[in-house]
Amino acid sequence: MGTSRLEEGAPHEKPHKPLLLLAVLDLIDEGKASPENIPWNQDLRDRFTARFLLVRKHNDQNNPDLPFRYLAGDGFWQAYEADGTTPIQREIRVTDMNEVFARFQNGFEFLVAIPENRQTMRETLIARYFPQSLREELVSKKVIQNIYTPRAAEDTPEYGRSPAFRRTILEVYDHQCAACGLRIRLAQGNDVSFIDAAHLIPFSESYNDHPTNGLALCKNHHWAMDRNIIAPGPDLHWHISRLIDPRRSNGEKELYELTGKSVLLPKDPAFHPDPQGLEWRKKKLSA
Ligand SMILES: [Zn+2]
Repeated sequence: MGTSRLEEGAPHEKPHKPLLLLAVLDLIDEGKASPENIPWNQDLRDRFTARFLLVRKHNDQNNPDLPFRYLAGDGFWQAYEADGTTPIQREIRVTDMNEVFARFQNGFEFLVAIPENRQTMRETLIARYFPQSLREELVSKKVIQNIYTPRAAEDTPEYGRSPAFRRTILEVYDHQCAACGLRIRLAQGNDVSFIDAAHLIPFSESYNDHPTNGLALCKNHHWAMDRNIIAPGPDLHWHISRLIDPRRSNGEKELYELTGKSVLLPKDPAFHPDPQGLEWRKKKLSA
């Protein structure tokens, strides 16, 4: 029925606006946003991404900034600069987080303020835009928890053992080492890959399995980063510990040659490494 129409011939409708609205409804339910003040922040972006990963088709890009701005065209929403009065007429960036915000308008702010209406909107959005088979997961807050909820310390892997984290990192980096560009894949799927999903700030410390706390690295560079011999910096270039002496061995020479090279990033800017994590890594670098 509705489902098959979406999946067959009909041109694929971009999921961004409904996904952003679902994320906003969550935040209002939880008291983390109000109809007049919807902050552009990490929480909103995370909630968008969690559902986006469920429904994406291959051409879709994970960019919540687009609907945050362009929902204005639908008449019930407007995004504002930090001054609270200037409508946003420009690209919204990650660096605008906790500065810019949006609000419902034209009477919608009163509708959305009522919990029953939010529930109706949620169901309507899902029924209208997504396959019925995904309804349960899209409604459920579990979709968010699966990716973001800190897990108990005792089942904390040192790195790369969370299947969702690994799968996402390998996918967005297209199985390519962010340092040397190595890409070796023996088979379809993520099980046989020489590339690791490495955390910037270790999971045991950050409890953060968001893809922006990760990098795809080959075994060598993963090893070197974990020993603080190499580090990606907030300038998105590689930095090398002064302990490395390129004259001493070929291995060290190879690591040394990474100095100043660009971090190889995913195409999708929404998955670029978090500047805080990069800063953390650079500070850890052995002097
Ligand atoms: Zn490498």
